[in-house]
Amino acid sequence: MPDLFVHYASGDILTSSTKRRNAALFTLGAILPDLLSRLPVNGFRLLFDWNTQVLFHPLHTPFGWTLATLLIAFLLPEHGRGRAFLLLWSGALLHQTLDLMQAPFYLSSYTPLFPFSLERYHWPLFYYNDSVLIAPVLVLILWFLARRRRAHSRVTSAQKNG
Ligand SMILES: [Zn+2]
Repeated sequence: MPDLFVHYASGDILTSSTKRRNAALFTLGAILPDLLSRLPVNGFRLLFDWNTQVLFHPLHTPFGWTLATLLIAFLLPEHGRGRAFLLLWSGALLHQTLDLMQAPFYLSSYTPLFPFSLERYHWPLFYYNDSVLIAPVLVLILWFLARRRRAHSRVTSAQKNG
């Protein structure tokens, strides 16, 4: 089920009542494993017909995305760096958990214990194409939350202006 939209929506919905900066970091973490692995693998495959799965797959494991979230956190200003790391890391953990709950098409491609084990795991709670069913519901929830945020910011700016 979890495609990039479902991962984005899960992060945005879970952080809808937090500060926008925190929500942005958590949501970035929620899509980060696919941005680091699926995006380059599919890009190289489409552009050059290269199979780079072995190269980028480790970035879709807790070991890989923990290193990536550490690197990203160190690129941010020193103040709040630890919190930024935790938000990115928590979002990536949500991503990994949702991916592991997906029934594999053939064999599971998730090796969450990499580099200590190449054992593949999954807990099949839903199918990969169930996102078609849940996406309209997520769109409605995101639309409702965006409306609520806009109304809240209008009230806040009206209070500031007098
Ligand atoms: Zn993924």
